[in-house]
Amino acid sequence: MQSLLLVSSPAPAAPAAPAAPAAPLPDLRRLCVHTITTKPWPIEVAAAKFAAAGVSGITVWRDTLAGRDIAATGRLLRERGLAVVSLCRGGFFPARTAEDRGKAIDDNRRAIAEAHALGAPLIVLVCGAVPGQPLSESRQQILDGIAAVLPEAQAAGVKLAIEPLHPMYADSRSAVNTLGQANDMVEQLRSPHVGVAVDVYHLWWDPTLQAEIARCGRLGALFAYHVCDWRTPTIDLLNDRGLMGEGCIPLRQIRAWVEATGYRGFNEVEVFSTRLWATDQDDYLRKIVQAYRDHV
Ligand code: ZN
Repeated sequence: MQSLLLVSSPAPAAPAAPAAPAAPLPDLRRLCVHTITTKPWPIEVAAAKFAAAGVSGITVWRDTLAGRDIAATGRLLRERGLAVVSLCRGGFFPARTAEDRGKAIDDNRRAIAEAHALGAPLIVLVCGAVPGQPLSESRQQILDGIAAVLPEAQAAGVKLAIEPLHPMYADSRSAVNTLGQANDMVEQLRSPHVGVAVDVYHLWWDPTLQAEIARCGRLGALFAYHVCDWRTPTIDLLNDRGLMGEGCIPLRQIRAWVEATGYRGFNEVEVFSTRLWATDQDDYLRKIVQAYRDHV
């Protein structure tokens, strides 16, 4: 139990001198794009276009796999030279009834099997919440749900990343709303297969962000880093994210904090935008690559 006490120690205060903003990225070797970013494209088209644009990695949303041979799709992505970075998404564990919580666990087991077939090393978890149910209860159900599927994840060699979501989604999409809460869960679950996806859209506002990113790094739990931007005004709570550079998120500052942990994984472009999905997607992909060079 001694180690439990050690990992339960509180996060230290942020360093007095904040890290300087990161330098521009020298190339596209760490650029990953989520399939949902260019939602109008079927996955085969996205793979071809991403590869031609010099994108190095792809995170696959499960809806793009409908009706496909998943293993064959994974091979296709790798043949294009793309690293399969993660599968989005699992989670949504909380529910009013044990029966519904069981269905959620079954769906997460299917997600693990899909990730294994695809060759994705990681599943991003949007953890879920139930309107009207206390958030503390939802958080316990999330912990129980992750614990229930951990044996399958371990057996499949698939890691699970808790993605804290902005508090505006605490009603129905996630009861995990800060990186501190996600780090607490990682400590409670105590598995090398459970970590965190840091998404700037959800976390940029948090005054403890630098300290919690550092803590996440010490836990060995910083599994993924997602980028986009926050527009003013935001006209839709879900589908009005900005391309990097269109908003107010200090992207180079946050990447410096992430890289101070030793993280050198992918910078994943994840943009849900009705506005941008309506534009020419070839032109949009060029803008994504340029925004990555100019702002990430
Ligand atoms: Zn994300």
